[in-house]
Amino acid sequence: MALIVQKYGGTSVGSVERIKNVAQRVAKFKMLGHQIVVVVSAMSGETNRLIGLAKDIQSTPDPRELDVLVSTGEQVTIALLAMALKDLGLKAKSYTGSQVRIVTDDAYTKARIQHIDEANIRGDLEAGCVVVVAGFQGVDEAGNITTLGRGGSDTTGVALAAALKADECQIYTDVDGVYTTDPRVVPDARRLKTITFEEMLEMASQGSKVLQIRSVEFAGKYKVPLRVLSSFAEEGDGTLITFEEDQNMEKAIISGIAFNRDEAKITVLGVPDRPGIAYQILGPVADANIDVDMIIQNVGADGATDFTFTVHRNEYKKALEVLHAAQAHIGAREITGDDKIAKVAVVGVGMRSHVGIASDMFRALAEEGINIQMISTSEIKISVVVDEKYLELAVRVLHKAFNLDQVPA
Ligand code: ASP
Ligand code: MG
Repeated sequence: MALIVQKYGGTSVGSVERIKNVAQRVAKFKMLGHQIVVVVSAMSGETNRLIGLAKDIQSTPDPRELDVLVSTGEQVTIALLAMALKDLGLKAKSYTGSQVRIVTDDAYTKARIQHIDEANIRGDLEAGCVVVVAGFQGVDEAGNITTLGRGGSDTTGVALAAALKADECQIYTDVDGVYTTDPRVVPDARRLKTITFEEMLEMASQGSKVLQIRSVEFAGKYKVPLRVLSSFAEEGDGTLITFEEDQNMEKAIISGIAFNRDEAKITVLGVPDRPGIAYQILGPVADANIDVDMIIQNVGADGATDFTFTVHRNEYKKALEVLHAAQAHIGAREITGDDKIAKVAVVGVGMRSHVGIASDMFRALAEEGINIQMISTSEIKISVVVDEKYLELAVRVLHKAFNLDQVPA
């Protein structure tokens, strides 16, 4: 007998029919003798609908009231799923976040879980009940309803699995696992049987939107065995997210190609090459709450240097404005930018023990005549910025160059 936390996303509970299907799947696991906690999202589209209603009234909705509003989406699905389970003859009980007492800080719309009172859930499980918990929501110490940020039901699932020391947290979604890259770009992308937490974090932060990144961080921190599966396929093991030390030897050096189109770059030309210059450029950008990703500073010549960095495309205009305002103070000759760029990265823990990955990557891109505009590396990732119009080609040639279409021997 195992204790399993299963999380079902919005499309998996998008209609009454689908909620009944989820109940069937849960029932199968229950019949095998497992203890099951189910975490559900709102029906697909519902959270957006609720946010839309709020915005029809207030252009910037009051955060406390917004959380009161959007948390109702999940309250609907827990009740319906509990009914569907009872209809199959199972014992079931639903809980909102505040009924469990998933205690968070008071940062409305992006609250962080602080602790979970899991005693009631344990009691219900021992009494043979399937426990159904609303994802995405909690309650602060003062009793206010909070939510965990878009996609936050993943984090609820993982946090409950950690608190209950579950044997596995299964995330059911509309894809059947984590792929070597997006199959819409590379049709022969393969589902990975396993991926490490660190690789998953890189893949997620690089734009593979299978799991909310916070849930992966949480799983890594509390060592929660996490599996991504399809809620539509009958069979399949999905992708298991593992710890590096558990990896077997046959793992490929590179696990996947991540990419992100939502990037823009800004270059500050002819700045004085002296201490404090990076701070003078990036300080105002940070003060405007703009996230900076890759940063490159050139070697100085004649006392001046150039400085380039990337930001999210949505924040490109704002970043340019901030820098133009600071240009005189920085002493820069010119500020230019390009919002038609994209980032591509090869990701794999095998890089730690293999040299030559970067040159393989650069050769593959060169052979297609793709110009690399920026490069950055970490222990397990090499990212490059390229012209947006070459993004798909770059992803395809890298997928091929690292043999990701072939099952590792
Ligand atoms: N319903 C919330 C959202 O749409 C949370 C989730 O689905 O994970 O973001
Ligand atoms: Mg999701």
